[in-house]
Amino acid sequence: MTHFRRSSDREDNIPSMKFNTPINFTLLTDLLKSYGDVDEIVFKSHFSFDEHRIAEICRESGRLSGHLQLHHPGRNAIEIAAQLGISVQKDTWEIAGGKVIYFGECSHNPSVIRLNAGIIRQLSELMNQWAGESERQWFSEDKILEVAAAHELYHLIEHHVHGPAAELGAHSFARQFTGLPFSPLLYHVLLAHLSKGEGFKYK
Ligand SMILES: [Zn+2]
Repeated sequence: MTHFRRSSDREDNIPSMKFNTPINFTLLTDLLKSYGDVDEIVFKSHFSFDEHRIAEICRESGRLSGHLQLHHPGRNAIEIAAQLGISVQKDTWEIAGGKVIYFGECSHNPSVIRLNAGIIRQLSELMNQWAGESERQWFSEDKILEVAAAHELYHLIEHHVHGPAAELGAHSFARQFTGLPFSPLLYHVLLAHLSKGEGFKYK
């Protein structure tokens, strides 16, 4: 999840990708368990902040989440973005030859959130095969879109876009706001894992 680089290598008709890497259920179960831990624990292994700073960022993103839920009851992140005049676009793009792939990005002036709907659909379709019945709802296309939109919404509302603290806050906000039972970092880990497969390339 990065922030607006209108990549010059973008193509308009990118064929769909194929994931071929097998995932075994033990791995997925382990990942769900470790990323299902509280953010303060999950982030310790991903970010080099001390725990007080992590806790502070998580608290702040929790406050924003509560604030938005209070003032936009029953609305998801995409709907709130629309209410705030932020344009939400769904698109498919690749960066760096398909190796670095983001779920979303955002820009100010005008405020735009772009969601990488192509990659989200691919991840969702694959996870639909691997996730257990009770977990599948967290990997639906709509759910991942919503989480990705919440992540970018945080960046735009907080004017906090660059750097690890902004990422930490955005992930924490997205989890709290959407009620995801694990850190959205799991989506990235799964994507990274799947993308190691030979088939995960634009051809
Ligand atoms: Zn981000």
